[in-house]
Amino acid sequence: MPLKRILSGMRPSGKLHLGNYAGALENWLRLQNEYENYFFVADWHVLTTDVQAAFEMKDNTREMVIDWLSAGINPENPIFIQSQIKEHAELHLIFSMLITTARLERNPTLKEQVRDLNSENISYGHLGYPVLQAADILMYKADVVPVGEDQVPHVEITREIARKFNITYGPIFAEPEAKLTKFPRLPGLDGRKMGKSNNNFILMSDGEQEIYKKVSQAITDPQKVRRNDKGHPDICNVYWYHRKFNPEEEPQIRQDCMSGQLGCVDCKKNCAKKLTDFFAPHREKRAYYENHRHEVEEILTTGIDKARRVARQTMSQVHQVMKMG
Ligand code: SF4
Repeated sequence: MPLKRILSGMRPSGKLHLGNYAGALENWLRLQNEYENYFFVADWHVLTTDVQAAFEMKDNTREMVIDWLSAGINPENPIFIQSQIKEHAELHLIFSMLITTARLERNPTLKEQVRDLNSENISYGHLGYPVLQAADILMYKADVVPVGEDQVPHVEITREIARKFNITYGPIFAEPEAKLTKFPRLPGLDGRKMGKSNNNFILMSDGEQEIYKKVSQAITDPQKVRRNDKGHPDICNVYWYHRKFNPEEEPQIRQDCMSGQLGCVDCKKNCAKKLTDFFAPHREKRAYYENHRHEVEEILTTGIDKARRVARQTMSQVHQVMKMG
């Protein structure tokens, strides 16, 4: 039986941090042997919230793809850039006629953003980004889309658009399933969500010195001032890094922190060492790709060609059932 097809995408943000790894990339690595994979750089999606980002997109795309490859994403899978497959734009346009603005305004993720950004600042493209997502997914006839809980409503919109298209023009799209994945939220060094804009991140590619410097600045339990003070690991960011990247020692660290036998200085040193070791193979592979950038370009060219072939097939079916032209 052929493998089910899965489509995974990420907005290009340059070099990836530990939050990106724990929140998505690690899951991609797990799934890549169970499915037929398509990996794409969602560069048009970035413009929905930041039009100026266009100027950095090319470099950010390469840096991110190098991190994918260095982490172990198999380049035999198509790895492609959304904006290089113009068919996404055409399908997005057609789909945008099959959904009402009222339906998009009910999207809970958008509602949250409207609260944060104020509706005056929400662009037409931003309102419609789940429609662009539907075009991304249905273009490749993905059976499965890995998503966190907040993205489930978007897959529902994709399913609705597929149904509407099939009823209106002809049944060519299957409805994809959301593969709900619990993405562990890794806090940043200051406890907020780890991110570039919060300047509280550790990169997967950071070297030993950088990791030590960053971990030593991480906020821990503010009540644990002296080494012998009893700590509360659950409110300590360093503890969450131990949980994720040092699971063997984590129970002992928890116990020793709570009993006051472990001081934060030693605990941080240990954490930095574990992070340095964990990502050592990644840094090594990354150094290779940084010195062989032409290979990255070849991987992208091959991936774009493969994806384009599939996209053209889909669009030819779309044109056929729509009988336009
Ligand atoms: S001992 Fe470790 S886990 Fe406990 S508060 Fe300090 S850094 Fe955090």
